[in-house]
Amino acid sequence: MRCSRCSADAVIDQPYRGAHLCAMHFKESVEERVRREMHRQLPRFGRGTVAVALSGGKDSGVALALAHRYFGRRPTVRIVALSVDEGIEGYRSGTLRAARELTESLGVDHRVVSAREEMGTTIDRTSEELRGTVPCSYCGVWRRQLLNRAARDAGADALVLGFNLDDLAQTVLMNLVHGDLDRLVRMAPHRVRQPGLVPRIAPLAGVPEREVYLYARLKKIPFDHGECPYASRASRNLFREVVWQLEEAQPGTRQALLRTHERLVARFLADGVGSLAPNRCRACGEPSANELCRACEYLEVARAASPAPEAS
Ligand code: SF4
Ligand SMILES: [Zn+2]
Ligand SMILES: [Zn+2]
Repeated sequence: MRCSRCSADAVIDQPYRGAHLCAMHFKESVEERVRREMHRQLPRFGRGTVAVALSGGKDSGVALALAHRYFGRRPTVRIVALSVDEGIEGYRSGTLRAARELTESLGVDHRVVSAREEMGTTIDRTSEELRGTVPCSYCGVWRRQLLNRAARDAGADALVLGFNLDDLAQTVLMNLVHGDLDRLVRMAPHRVRQPGLVPRIAPLAGVPEREVYLYARLKKIPFDHGECPYASRASRNLFREVVWQLEEAQPGTRQALLRTHERLVARFLADGVGSLAPNRCRACGEPSANELCRACEYLEVARAASPAPEAS
């Protein structure tokens, strides 16, 4: 198969746009899509701090490498990479190693936040205490809170997330299926600023997962291939499968889901639907839609289930 733009061999097909691209034109097309999203989601940004959530996987590695490509040469923009160590034995150490390798090669400041230190517990311990639960539910909530706090402490004006087109399409569908309008409105990329919350942006929104993977391989971006031991329990897996099947049958479904989401959010915000996080959590003081934020709710449940220390 030949490249749609030149006579070189194609390395990837893009059924959703009816194209085949060679390595050079593929890399250019990823970089152009990410540059456009970066400027659309973070308009006229020329001064300040950009934090990048870096897990050590391919998506956040590509997000950091491209954020560095666009902002790295500007003396008025500082980039800081933030990783969360949730406490998952046999998994996180490999991803953190890859994260360190990438930040060192780019010369980017790298901070690691530990759930054990900040929350007083780990995902491994909580999953033992709350047997039968899906660890991803509290892991995601705690990670979001730890990243927001770390980004705020770093003085960040925006927090870059490595969500790709597939991730976002799955999340839109999940929130629609659950009828969760508040979460639909709160999804990254953020359109409105809220006190205490660093706006999250998703510059890989236009790039499918397999293209992020190929880009990382072609650009030799270090990333870890390991899979979290709890990943098979995630409820997202069903939505991954459904979106994949829809995309196979009808190329362009993922982009259509994102466009639908954008239009819905614009309408909801105009109508005042989907209050963001108007309160402060009574336990931790973080922005929250309720009296107690979800991170603290999970902490309370885990503490209640934790075995009492033995009397000496
Ligand atoms: S798969 Fe689930 S438990 Fe594992 S890191 Fe991701 S969100 Fe956390
Ligand atoms: Zn080409
Ligand atoms: Zn709280």
